[in-house]
Amino acid sequence: MLTPEINDGQTGSRRAQVQEVRLESVVSRSNGVSLLKHTWIVLAFAVSVCTLVLVMQSEHAAAQGSADVVTPADLVLLGGRVITLDPDDHTTKAIAVRGNRIVGVGSDTEIQRLVGPKTRVIQLHGRGVTPGFIDSHTHVESTAEFRNFWVDLHSPPLPVEHSSAAILQKLRERVTQLPAGTWVVGEGPFGSQVPPTAAELSAAFPNHPVVVKYGMHQYVANRKALAMANITKLTPDPPGAKIERGNDGEPTGMLYECFELFPITYPRAELKHALETTLTEDFLKQGVTTVYELSVTQPANGLYQELHDEGKLPVRLHIGYMIYPALQPVIDLESLLKMGIHSGFGDDWLRIGPAKLFVNGAGAGVPLIRRDQATLNNTALRLHHAGWQLWLHAIGEPAQDMALEALETVYRADPRSDPRHRIEHIGGVLDQPRFDRMQRLGIIPVPTEPALPYGPSGDSTGVLYPYRTLLAMGFQPPGNSDTGGSYSWQMNVIARLAMFVTRASENGTSYHPEEAVSVSQALRILSTYGAYAGFEEKTRGTLELGKLADLVVLSNDPLSIARDRLKDLKIDATIIDGAVRYERLR
Ligand SMILES: [Zn+2]
Repeated sequence: MLTPEINDGQTGSRRAQVQEVRLESVVSRSNGVSLLKHTWIVLAFAVSVCTLVLVMQSEHAAAQGSADVVTPADLVLLGGRVITLDPDDHTTKAIAVRGNRIVGVGSDTEIQRLVGPKTRVIQLHGRGVTPGFIDSHTHVESTAEFRNFWVDLHSPPLPVEHSSAAILQKLRERVTQLPAGTWVVGEGPFGSQVPPTAAELSAAFPNHPVVVKYGMHQYVANRKALAMANITKLTPDPPGAKIERGNDGEPTGMLYECFELFPITYPRAELKHALETTLTEDFLKQGVTTVYELSVTQPANGLYQELHDEGKLPVRLHIGYMIYPALQPVIDLESLLKMGIHSGFGDDWLRIGPAKLFVNGAGAGVPLIRRDQATLNNTALRLHHAGWQLWLHAIGEPAQDMALEALETVYRADPRSDPRHRIEHIGGVLDQPRFDRMQRLGIIPVPTEPALPYGPSGDSTGVLYPYRTLLAMGFQPPGNSDTGGSYSWQMNVIARLAMFVTRASENGTSYHPEEAVSVSQALRILSTYGAYAGFEEKTRGTLELGKLADLVVLSNDPLSIARDRLKDLKIDATIIDGAVRYERLR
């Protein structure tokens, strides 16, 4: 039990009410510190191996002839393990923030000098501090829709044994609350269950359009949903998508890669609230300070801007544009190019990120190809010329070869320096020839972390995920949850951190331990490499002087606890832009 103390400098110190809090705030107000006028110097102290340069801005009272005094920090964290992730892997005990920037990283004694009358001091008691986590590929809007508007058909909460009745009952509970004609969406996957058939859905729900999603890529729709979406015998398959048809040519109700065909919209105010709460609950509270979002509707993009204008964005955002043809595209190529802008537009809170091109889809046997090689090459080149960072979605070797060929074409035609193009979902298996190709071109591989076998069921997918090999080759694979609400645990950054290090599933089974990485390497994947993969390494991803004050306080020191305890770490605080935006136990 810790006791916050308040020293007001006039009445002496007194004990504030006792709280069981782990973040201890000490606010002191010292007398006799003159407010001085001229900021004039930046001091650099040579320091020992364990401490970093501490820079303090001083003010000089020439008129009074007094010694220099330090401009106080706004926030100081003392007595912990500050894991800077700087190039030399320094750790220190303390860190100071003024405004939205890091102004000191060093020993307790050094950082203590930055404590002034209004400085908030957090005593860390040995806990770890790391750079804020960066989720480098995720689907916030889809997750928000799942959390707020859809029916949860995962198992659990549904029973583990297969039962269409259980799924239909869960849907029925929602349907009965809504007027006829209102869309109802359910999402799994369903553990050992299988989705209901379209016939089952049509029989159970004749008056409501019902769509059941199996993850993000496959859907079963009832007759009413097909009718309201105007999906008929005559509807062509969108490029790279499939409307399954019976012998009579009529849609069966099974669809792949084309959720955008269902005209489902949400009230603007409700969607805004859903986005804000999802960013808070599933990202901010997980220690995530920057999110690279792939939005799926135009309204969401506008709502992110509204939240930003109102100062209500819970975390920093990059918005990636999914270009038609794609799963839920937000814009077509010509329209995007006509805007004349490119990746990087925006500010430290809200920025335009990449153009995302789907080479193919996912699952459902052979993933469907979205565009042929020549079109892919040409589209990639035009976006590259226009200054866009490219994310090529490619699942499976044929699509990944297409992605590599497209990027080779791009680099050959226009070797623009440092474009940092990425291939999403590559790097999941030890694939030396493709690794070599990526290395030659400087492509960033983005393995699909959620496929790592660390789900609640603890089962192993047998997928390799050779992070140690990737790091040894010099790649900087960025951490990502890639969630669309399919698996709630994906947002658990701590579970993912532990998995990188222990290579153990929840039931303790170790898999490919030879590909385990160190704790600091795992933290780099979850933060530093994310910054690089989004061109943000100058402002975030390490705890260094002058960088944005985005940091996370963990419940313990990840560098000193046993590896099998990593998964028990908690996020005690998330600090963004110098402000404590989330505190556990407060
Ligand atoms: Zn994704």
